[in-house]
Amino acid sequence: MGEAFDVLIVGAGMSGLTAARGLAATGRSVRVVDKGRGVGGRVATRRISDATFDHGAQFFTARDPRFLALVEQWVAEGAASEWFRSSSGSGGNPRYRGTPTMTSIAKALSAGLDVVLSTRVESVRRVGDTDRAAWRVRFADATEVEAGSVILTPPVPQSLEILRSGEVVIESQTRSLLESVEYAPCIAIMAVLNGPSRIDPPGGIAPKPDDPAFPISWISDNRQKGVSNVAAITIHASAAFSRENLQRDPKDVADALLSAASPWLGSDAIEHQLHVWRYARPTRFLDVGCVTVCASPALVVAGDACLGARLEAAVLSGWAAASVCTTSL
Ligand SMILES: Cc1cc2nc3c(=O)[nH]c(=O)nc-3n(C[C@H](O)[C@H](O)[C@H](O)COP(=O)(O)OP(=O)(O)OC[C@H]3O[C@@H](n4cnc5c(N)ncnc54)[C@H](O)[C@@H]3O)c2cc1C
Repeated sequence: MGEAFDVLIVGAGMSGLTAARGLAATGRSVRVVDKGRGVGGRVATRRISDATFDHGAQFFTARDPRFLALVEQWVAEGAASEWFRSSSGSGGNPRYRGTPTMTSIAKALSAGLDVVLSTRVESVRRVGDTDRAAWRVRFADATEVEAGSVILTPPVPQSLEILRSGEVVIESQTRSLLESVEYAPCIAIMAVLNGPSRIDPPGGIAPKPDDPAFPISWISDNRQKGVSNVAAITIHASAAFSRENLQRDPKDVADALLSAASPWLGSDAIEHQLHVWRYARPTRFLDVGCVTVCASPALVVAGDACLGARLEAAVLSGWAAASVCTTSL
């Protein structure tokens, strides 16, 4: 048997990192594991040659007072800033971004935490008798650790697969709830340009928000945003286009999206990459902070599947999951 922790958190996205911070602050031993090479999950930044791209979440809003206080802390630390304001509301509502890139906020959250990257969790299995039950977490390399509580923050279908692999019994109402969550995919194109784009300040645009047939939902200019030193744009395909083209040849998909984006490009795309977010945003989510699969030992599902398709929801869900584990330990 490997190491043991009070809490093992699967996923170093905004939800998992928030839960970890909350629990570590109460003195629990907490480990976060993520299959990715960096922290942030769908808050993601990638480099191509000299260019840098935010290719997941582009900005975020803050409505909950507790989350707003966290955002203000990030702003004070230089990890986030206001990017622009919506046209609605008196004076508009702030849209924040990480500085210099979106992943800066995930890095700020992860500071001082025990985070292990490039580690895929395969299963979570209940072990021990009723008095001393715990969770045994198995990784892709066949190593294992034991934890008093587990928080799963991957998209729900991936969390259910981890539970299925460990033969965790899920009460039927809880299973139905989890299985009701639905996601839309998003195909992202990152393109390096040989000159400036035609995107107006502040550097991000929803090109034809009222036309559901238009294949692009968002284009941003990473240089204008201050993310990239060279001209670099991120294109997000609409949910409908992404769904219809998931299986298509990536080259044809990239050509179609770059062609649709041409009025905003202004320069030639000299290099590009495509990334598929299979579970980009929940389109059907739960109206609860997190889902308790087992109360003792605690096994909790959290993430933006609870409360909504927004970075703020992921953070609020992380706090809710931390609170369930704090009570159970
Ligand atoms: C293209 C795109 C654009 C978006 N735009 C916005 C926006 O403008 N504003 C906004 O507020 N929100 C936006 N969002 C949504 C926002 O990014 C998410 O709501 C939020 O980041 C979700 O965080 P999370 O922690 O719940 O999940 P995630 O960020 O998905 O974190 C889950 C983590 O679990 C890890 N994981 C999965 N399976 C395993 C496993 N088996 N073992 C180990 N680790 C595993 C993953 O690698 C991932 O890091 C966008 C999302 C996408 C994809």
